Amino acid sequence: MSADPKKVMVIGGGIAGLTAAWELSKCGVAVDLVEKSDHLGGHAIQYCCKATEECRQCGACSVEKMLKNVVEAPNINVHCGVEVGRVARNGGFEVGLQASSVAAPAVAPGCDQRYESNPLACAAARKFSKNNAALDCGRAPADLTVDAIILASGFAPFDATRKGTYNYGKLPNVVTGLELERGVRANGRVLRPSDGQAPAKVAFIQCVGSRDERLGNLWCSHVCCPYALRVSELMKHHNPEIEITVFYMDIQNTGNNFPAFYEKCKQDLQFVRNIPVDVYPMENDRLRMRYTTESDGTPVDAEFDMVVLSIGIMPGLDNQRIATLLEIGLDADGFFQSAERFNRTATANNGIFLAGTVGGPKTIAASMAHAGQAAYEAMKYLGGAE
Ligand SMILES: Cc1cc2nc3c(=O)[nH]c(=O)nc-3n(C[C@H](O)[C@H](O)[C@H](O)COP(=O)(O)OP(=O)(O)OC[C@H]3O[C@@H](n4cnc5c(N)ncnc54)[C@H](O)[C@@H]3O)c2cc1C
Ligand code: SF4
Ligand code: SF4
Repeated sequence: MSADPKKVMVIGGGIAGLTAAWELSKCGVAVDLVEKSDHLGGHAIQYCCKATEECRQCGACSVEKMLKNVVEAPNINVHCGVEVGRVARNGGFEVGLQASSVAAPAVAPGCDQRYESNPLACAAARKFSKNNAALDCGRAPADLTVDAIILASGFAPFDATRKGTYNYGKLPNVVTGLELERGVRANGRVLRPSDGQAPAKVAFIQCVGSRDERLGNLWCSHVCCPYALRVSELMKHHNPEIEITVFYMDIQNTGNNFPAFYEKCKQDLQFVRNIPVDVYPMENDRLRMRYTTESDGTPVDAEFDMVVLSIGIMPGLDNQRIATLLEIGLDADGFFQSAERFNRTATANNGIFLAGTVGGPKTIAASMAHAGQAAYEAMKYLGGAE
């Protein structure tokens, strides 16, 4: 690369944005990482470790490792609590930042206090930072001039209240997969929200929000089978007596060693190939569901202590605004469209690249790989990679 130091703006501080920023910084590129919330790490910073006697390769721990890399890198400036309000082309890009539309925590401005509102990202950032001056949380910096942009603004988890018959938000023991992840991370195990007791009978309903013709969401989210099965196995590991039923359409491959892992799941869990439509309340905050058997369609009533809705990956709520701002396209589902068939990071606007779930559902590992490719393509664009 030329002696002239290049600058790239990365939009979004989830695992994809962190990975892209770090890969660029290793090549000597100066990075401005713009994150609209008050913390780094995106959705995946909330997930639990699903290891039993062995690592289940869920990828969750990669996020803190990458956070550490980014916070230690001297050439990455982190701007939290701000978002892009204006972009103009001038050879490179002139970018105007504005205060984030996401509600800021009610504290005086300052990095430490802002990070305090998310203890996970906060602890990681402060523990590892040797470069606190670079953490510019909530103070909108002067406009940025950059040579390229990587868009890594991620996804929105499906809003489970849209499936009204599951009574999510009304029945305390109907929870989403995201709440399950957060709960295990906080408590070390699964507890019923209504009474803090360990459940004895748990149901997982797969494909909530995904593969749903009525919602017009035909895509598979790829991640909800893996997280549901891994957390189920973790629950079995903690309590071999627990009864877990997984209501599903298809089970997606969970990555390395899947056949052996799935065989173990089949021994430990009950699988029912039917998606129940309603969840009804019972005494003591228990829950009842009706499903039909695969063999002859016989209706069966089953009772559970807790029902987990395996919500999936939806397009980011901000996508239309960002697409207009950056002059790049969305696909028919609302994810960002890649402009080249064999380079899924390319957009219709030269110099702007996609990383992670902005382009569609991905696991943490796949988001990191995509972000690595985005960094490489940005380097090529800047003339610094062959
Ligand atoms: C319930 C659930 C459980 C999951 N469990 C697993 C698992 O165990 N293993 C696994 O591999 N995958 C799992 N996943 C998938 C995993 O969450 C994703 O692969 C990963 O989070 C994608 O990272 P990302 O950086 O693309 O997006 P995100 O995590 O969504 O990060 C995007 C970041 O961009 C920020 N942002 C958004 N808009 C803007 C803007 N306009 N300006 C600036 N910043 C912005 C957001 O605040 C966020 O910090 C799970 C998904 C769900 C829904
Ligand atoms: S990959 Fe997942 S299961 Fe393995 S150690 Fe990391 S967080 Fe735990
Ligand atoms: S990963 Fe599994 S639960 Fe998620 S949408 Fe695909 S098939 Fe359904």
